[in-house]
Amino acid sequence: MLLEAPLPVGPSIAPSPSPEEAPARTEVQALYDQYVVPLANRGLTLTRGRGRYVWDEQDRKYLDLGGGVAVNSLGHAHPAVRDTLARQADALIHSCNLYYNEWQGRLAQRLVELTGPGKVFFCNSGAEANEGLIKLARKFGHGAGGTGSAGRYEIITTLNSFHGRTMATLTATGQEKIKHGFEPLVPGFVHVPYNDLAAIEAAITPKTVAVQIEGIQGEGGVFVATPEYLLGLRELTRKHNLLLLWDGVQCGYFRTGRWQSYERILEGVPGGEDFLPDAIAMAKSLGAGFPIGAVWIREPYQNVFTPGSHGTTYGGSPLACAVALTVLDVVEREKLADNIRARGDELKRGLQALVGTRGITEVRGYGGLIGLVCEEEPGAIVAKLTQAGLLLVPAANKTVRFLPPLNVTAEEIAEALRIVTETL
Ligand code: PLP
Repeated sequence: MLLEAPLPVGPSIAPSPSPEEAPARTEVQALYDQYVVPLANRGLTLTRGRGRYVWDEQDRKYLDLGGGVAVNSLGHAHPAVRDTLARQADALIHSCNLYYNEWQGRLAQRLVELTGPGKVFFCNSGAEANEGLIKLARKFGHGAGGTGSAGRYEIITTLNSFHGRTMATLTATGQEKIKHGFEPLVPGFVHVPYNDLAAIEAAITPKTVAVQIEGIQGEGGVFVATPEYLLGLRELTRKHNLLLLWDGVQCGYFRTGRWQSYERILEGVPGGEDFLPDAIAMAKSLGAGFPIGAVWIREPYQNVFTPGSHGTTYGGSPLACAVALTVLDVVEREKLADNIRARGDELKRGLQALVGTRGITEVRGYGGLIGLVCEEEPGAIVAKLTQAGLLLVPAANKTVRFLPPLNVTAEEIAEALRIVTETL
């Protein structure tokens, strides 16, 4: 059935009146109330963005250092992304994985060059990428690819982790609130405390096939893995022929100032330069807002999957891959890994100076993944800062996250610090 009139979207909806005369809910919010399943507690109604700024329907401007939860790696409306989207839409948007497309091949090559010898497959989100890691481990544990031993399927993951919201990835996730009400969960997952090597060792059984961790627990409240944990984990997993599965969905993609967070965590640590997981889940910043996920699989495990054993209709589309290639070009050309490292250091220094005041108790993380720990609930802090013109993202364990675009400027970091200092 055709709609008689186009649905009003975005800025075409009349702005709501001034706060004194505003109805309880704006027109957009009323649409959500009636038609959108309430899966989230939403705040503002955003209508446009430029660089690190967004505007709401009353044309109020906000400094967006939440970055769409670590997705907007180049900020909003980046000209290179806009141009690639338009150009690629004119050439080929989607072709499906029954055919070759040049952009997928080139992007896989770039990701392998950045990470290490192996191969890549593409999907559409972080949960799907982690689901790919889990399926890789199951296949490996059933003897596929000639590198596993049959009959193993158990994956050890960590408490307080977050790996996604599909049935397998929410089971892998180490937070009860994410799993609640979805029982029975997927069998074959064991949870142990994070940064506790002895706990991993104690959990290994003849059925264990893999260990899955985040290098920095993002949703859990920005907890960083220690160098000893990572090096010990690599040794332990090798010794027991277990796959080391790395969830780099939030902490990867240059967010720490290095391509993957283990490179930053292990900088200057003897033996650290040889550290490499067996498979890495990527998503979020990879497409700078265009949905794309990827799984890098290290040699010799790249042949565990065979044609028909895993797949997705959209994954690795010409459009998604062309955008991701453009984003990588911009990151490299504009040296954004160095930029986010320097900006992150400024931000961390500024926030650390506030510890012990304003209910701020701790600052954790690196570069573009910084957690500000407060006495007050993170939701309340985020609401106050939003009112003051700064968008951040709440996390678990009383933590508020800064997840700025990789091209955030020193002036914008200074502005954020000023707002935090004046508001809290
Ligand atoms: N893994 C990590 C570490 C994440 O932070 C997230 C999302 O926040 C996911 C997986 C799930 O990604 P997506 O929401 O794209 O499915």
